[in-house]
Amino acid sequence: MAAPTKPHQTHDSLSNGGQAFRRSLINWFEDNAKDYAWRRTQDPYAILVSELMLQQTQIATVLEHGYYDRWMQRFPNAKALALADETEVLKHWEGLGYYSRARNLQSAAKIISTDLSGNFPTTAVEIERLPGVGPYTAGAVASFAFDLPAAIVDGNVARVLARIFDLREAVDSGPGNKLLWELARQLMPKRKNAKSREYNSALMELGQRICKRASPLCGKCPVAHYCATRDPVNLPVKKQRAKTELIEEHVMFCVRKNAVLLEQEQGSRRKGLWKLPELQKKNSGEKQTHTDKPILTLKYSITKYRVTMKVYQARASKASKGRWVTFEELDDLTLGAPYRRALGKLI
Ligand code: SF4
Repeated sequence: MAAPTKPHQTHDSLSNGGQAFRRSLINWFEDNAKDYAWRRTQDPYAILVSELMLQQTQIATVLEHGYYDRWMQRFPNAKALALADETEVLKHWEGLGYYSRARNLQSAAKIISTDLSGNFPTTAVEIERLPGVGPYTAGAVASFAFDLPAAIVDGNVARVLARIFDLREAVDSGPGNKLLWELARQLMPKRKNAKSREYNSALMELGQRICKRASPLCGKCPVAHYCATRDPVNLPVKKQRAKTELIEEHVMFCVRKNAVLLEQEQGSRRKGLWKLPELQKKNSGEKQTHTDKPILTLKYSITKYRVTMKVYQARASKASKGRWVTFEELDDLTLGAPYRRALGKLI
């Protein structure tokens, strides 16, 4: 692997430990910080919950739909989550997607409440051993809960650092990512209780509100003085993305009295979630008992796929697998978001 190249340009006071840089950023943050529920607590479990929820979901979605508050009311600590039924855990996650996060959170809660006798790990290295926790999440929990000088690099921080240091490496390449982490560590305070909590929060918030992806507000930036780039809009550099693949999904809508036929997902990503049954293949030997044309078409995206889902009215056959679910029961089941959307339109 090629050695990471040095940043293009570094402001003197950044190569001197970054104390003045941190002070400018923290001063701005203290005057402008947004008030999120997870910023009002230093409970590591609550912070882990918020970080996993926010991993692939926008803050606005988590807040506006009350996911975090509902979760914390129902599972206020690791023990409550460890003892809960997985079906209920997934139900509280419904709509956030990427359900492996909910499963990992429950696995982590079980480790904390049993193997660790209820004691949350207290260093970034130990926190990173929990299921579903990578270097970013470990650093976030260690700094936000314990004020440890643990670095973090997420999308917002990567963008800010790439611009401050005028990095020309692709930040999603191995060498570019390694360099980002080195820079993030260099800028951290060197000891505990030195406002790492505020500094990391400020760095992320600067990326969200000032150093924006398409239109950075450099005129309002509290650390513009330290920023090396003259070309912020074209930073960070990224590798070419995998192309989106277009695929079709054909599913059945079978209704009997006030019940609909559903089946459970088998794949690892959404295992256990309920969905509309797949249409039997023409060569499966099954008699075709569905409409020729779809009664509903809708589109959704998952990872690199853009899916066109076609729903056909159908009659269940003896060979149909799945479960008849009454319309009243639908609210209690955990359904993949596209299927709930489809049922919302059809029922
Ligand atoms: S000066 Fe502009 S590009 Fe540099 S960190 Fe601030 S907002 Fe980002």
